[in-house]
Amino acid sequence: MAKIKLEREKCIGCGSCAALCPKYFEMADDGKSHIKGADKKEIEELEVAKLECAESAAEACPAQCIHTS
Ligand code: SF4
Repeated sequence: MAKIKLEREKCIGCGSCAALCPKYFEMADDGKSHIKGADKKEIEELEVAKLECAESAAEACPAQCIHTS
């Protein structure tokens, strides 16, 4: 399994992750990113079978608040 992690407090709401990887990311009502299927909280985590576009989203994030492992 792989893991996607999002530090919401660092997110500047640029929308890149949701544009590049709508499978895993969407913009929430507060203007920050949210991992689809994860509990909405300060640090979100989601276990996935494959990272797929999440890797591109992590590379593109200007706030470096998306982490993959
Ligand atoms: S790319 Fe990074 S800063 Fe931009 S919305 Fe996504 S998590 Fe936030």
